Amino acid sequence: MMHGLAEHLSATLDQIRADGLEKPETVIASSQSGSVTVAGRQMVNLCANNYLGLADHPEVVEATIRATEKYGSGMASVRFICGTHELHKELEGAVARYLEKDDAILFGSCFDANGGIFETILGPEDAVISDTLNHASIIDGVRLSKARRYRFHTSDMDDLRLQLQAADDDGARFKLIVTDGVFSMDGFIANLPEICDLAEDYRAAVLIDECHATGHLGDKGKGTPTLTGAGNRVDIISGTFGKTLGGAMGGFVAGPQPVVDLLRQRARPYLFSNALPPGVAAGALKAIEIAEQADDLRATLARNTARFRTAMTEAGFDLVPGETPIIPVMLHDAVKAQAMAQSLRDRGVLVSAFSFPVVPRDQARIRTQMSAALTDDNIGFAIDAFVGAGRELGVI
Ligand SMILES: *Cc1c(COP(=O)(O)O)cnc(C)c1O
Repeated sequence: MMHGLAEHLSATLDQIRADGLEKPETVIASSQSGSVTVAGRQMVNLCANNYLGLADHPEVVEATIRATEKYGSGMASVRFICGTHELHKELEGAVARYLEKDDAILFGSCFDANGGIFETILGPEDAVISDTLNHASIIDGVRLSKARRYRFHTSDMDDLRLQLQAADDDGARFKLIVTDGVFSMDGFIANLPEICDLAEDYRAAVLIDECHATGHLGDKGKGTPTLTGAGNRVDIISGTFGKTLGGAMGGFVAGPQPVVDLLRQRARPYLFSNALPPGVAAGALKAIEIAEQADDLRATLARNTARFRTAMTEAGFDLVPGETPIIPVMLHDAVKAQAMAQSLRDRGVLVSAFSFPVVPRDQARIRTQMSAALTDDNIGFAIDAFVGAGRELGVI
């Protein structure tokens, strides 16, 4: 018996619907790719994090199947009891080598990686200085730590300096600056060179979340440190296998040896949650191997991004400027963004509208994401659909 709790939850759900904030789920009946099958219909997909198109890459799928056949469906144990497989050690080695760090540690997701790191490496004497636009998993992870919290306005280096100074004035022992490498809602890149300069001035460490960068941005897909020239001045990197690197699941932290070693001893999402299935680890290993060599796929992604951006700008849409495959189309109004998304879906283009509280109230948008899996025809079809829907709704 729920004694009234179920009715209370129903009322909350009614309110979510009444506010127009319900998030319906689109059911996909195909593999994840440039186009997908929804309710028996092919749709061009502009909202997956499948930047290089590796989610259904034959070699990634093959590696996953092979490892599953050989090693079974899973480890049925956390890592430190009897859940550490050879493939886990191989994958940790591959991540560390790829991102040029001492070592790496796997988590069930990047949400877990970010959930475990702050509490583990910082104490109450320490300070964490966090960008206001950071991902929810960083916000939650920072909340779980006992360190003092300081927030700086997104990418505002003057404010970052003020917050570092405030942490010093408050007597912080160690300071850690944390930022997304690429901000997922706007698609812009963190100002890593200046962040690292300030970190040096104030003797702070730097942690970045590379979920929207690893595999597709920078030289060999090594992410924003190589793209911005900050290189190994960035100390710690968290990331995911659930986006560019195969799209399955799993997260990681790569960094200095003592960071990785202490996470193995203390990080709660690592200690108290099941190990990644061997098949998933094998798929991620193959995805890293492919991504590192995939200059062709990165070129296709860049070409698709440039073409869509140019055509949409010429058509009169209001885009957030940027250079990543995340291209937000601004509608500024939640109702209009919903109507636009619906019209695009009716026309065969799968997109997602974002409104408050995911973005500020007057910044409702459709976030499009480019992929190397999109064909020239897919991109042309999507542009035509946007122009048709935009005219129908008086957006352009
Ligand atoms: C997707 C994402 C995560 C979460 O990654 P999962 O592996 O799906 O848990 C964390 N941080 C950022 C910036 C993300 O975009």
